[in-house]
Amino acid sequence: MLLGKCSWGKVTAMTIENVLSLKAITKTYGGVRTLDGIDLELQPGETLGLIGHNGAGKTTLMKIILGLIRPSSGQINVFGQDPAGRNHGNVARQFGFLPEAVSFSGAMTGLEVLKFYSRLKNIDVAQCPDRLAAVGLADAARQRVKTYSKGMRQRLGLAQALLGEPALLLLDEPTTGLDPDFTRTFYRLIDERRAAGAAIILSSHALAELEPHVDRLLVLQHGQCIAQGDMAELRAQTGLPVRIRVSGGSGAVREELAALTDVKSNRINGRTVEFICAPEQKMELIELLSRAQGVEDLQIELPNLDRIYSHYNNNGGREQ
Ligand code: ATP
Repeated sequence: MLLGKCSWGKVTAMTIENVLSLKAITKTYGGVRTLDGIDLELQPGETLGLIGHNGAGKTTLMKIILGLIRPSSGQINVFGQDPAGRNHGNVARQFGFLPEAVSFSGAMTGLEVLKFYSRLKNIDVAQCPDRLAAVGLADAARQRVKTYSKGMRQRLGLAQALLGEPALLLLDEPTTGLDPDFTRTFYRLIDERRAAGAAIILSSHALAELEPHVDRLLVLQHGQCIAQGDMAELRAQTGLPVRIRVSGGSGAVREELAALTDVKSNRINGRTVEFICAPEQKMELIELLSRAQGVEDLQIELPNLDRIYSHYNNNGGREQ
């Protein structure tokens, strides 16, 4: 299968609804290509998961979208404008950004920090206490940031990023340092923004927690996009096998089940047989097994994002 460089096939032309459109974006530092030919389009209400190894180019891509750095070549359009152009201010007002290593003045309280950013964004400061409460910092609002734990600083960063209901949210490894409870709250807040129509780009190495909250993924490797699509598209592209486990019945029935098909099977324990089939065999096999005598339960395990990512990482997006 040839993966190579990719572009998102569903939307080929820039449409008026696009929040952003990137075409053939490259970024070179000292002769080294940090980004190489990235195409991306994003629409309101879409969440894109940006994944890739350390140094793959995720933060660089976010910085280009934010207009903090210019690409070396290619075209970029965010809310119909060049984000690093003259109208940068108008574009930036629609952004919310949570950087990877969030840092605030330790001498200020959480409430003062949020008021400061509210004034910068021309937002009523009266809403700051509620914003802090939404990220679980109500009790720490008047505490200096230098007394905050890493997770508390991250929560404050999220409150800052969500100020003013941004239409485009960029979140760079946002859940690092968050406890499991607040990680759930974090994704609830993000899902609410998406439901309200915001476009979201979220980079993370925590693939299991990311998977249920993204509509589409872009896999970066050494600055190149080696895959882009939703989970179903990536599963189809990788061709990774599906596992179907059937249980129940007597030993003789299980022997018969295994003999029903050429599909590879393993006996897991005294009650369960696992079949490992190609994606295109899945429906036929499910039908066959669900009709078979003695089957009491059937479980289907599709390749998850972790397996898909390690497939791309190990195969480098090249022909396999
Ligand atoms: P991580 O998962 O570790 O955060 P990343 O995917 O966000 O990594 P980037 O921070 O975008 O990666 O960096 C991509 C590459 O570009 C790295 O090799 C990095 O050293 C290089 N790079 C980034 N900024 C600069 C710069 N200002 N000057 C030179 N090289 C840079």
